[in-house]
Amino acid sequence: MEYYSSHISKLIEELGRLPGIGPKSAQRLAFHIVSLPKDQAVVLADAIRDARENIRYCSVCGTLTDAETCPICADPARNHRQIMVVENSRDLAAYEKTQKYEGVYHVLQGAISPMLGIGPDDIRLKELMQRLQGDVDEVIIATNSSLEGETTAMYISRLIKPTGILVTRIASGVPVGGDLEYIDEVTLLRALDGRTEL
Ligand code: ZN
Repeated sequence: MEYYSSHISKLIEELGRLPGIGPKSAQRLAFHIVSLPKDQAVVLADAIRDARENIRYCSVCGTLTDAETCPICADPARNHRQIMVVENSRDLAAYEKTQKYEGVYHVLQGAISPMLGIGPDDIRLKELMQRLQGDVDEVIIATNSSLEGETTAMYISRLIKPTGILVTRIASGVPVGGDLEYIDEVTLLRALDGRTEL
């Protein structure tokens, strides 16, 4: 038996696919959306379409951005000889919020995970090695302290070592398995300041 109109059922179904949205939340959101003034609902729908159609990956660091090159990579005031390697754009945002890091980033868009079948070729390592052909003083590995993050850090350090470029790893003040985006700024800065050579 259909409890709702097929339109609402469809909306509930789509919302329910989003991470962290269970059936109850999906229902609540769906009823909220259909009760919105029409123009507001359209603004929401347009924002989703615009974001999806216009967002791209920075051609240098690989983070999500609106332009060919992201604002960080395009900023001449940043230290382009210091590259922090992070797993995703959310981790980049976590470090940017501290407003203390002046280098640039490299976004891997993932981490090595033998369990999930994600190998070195599936993340943006080739692009990182290409960037290291230029003038780089230090690569700071800021992958998460999960098993995948540590595996990735070890792999990258072994890859870079022969180039003679300094490779450091953020300190392990970051809780094990902790996603960088959930860690407070003080802890992030302490992890950055306490980084050690690999
Ligand atoms: Zn960039």
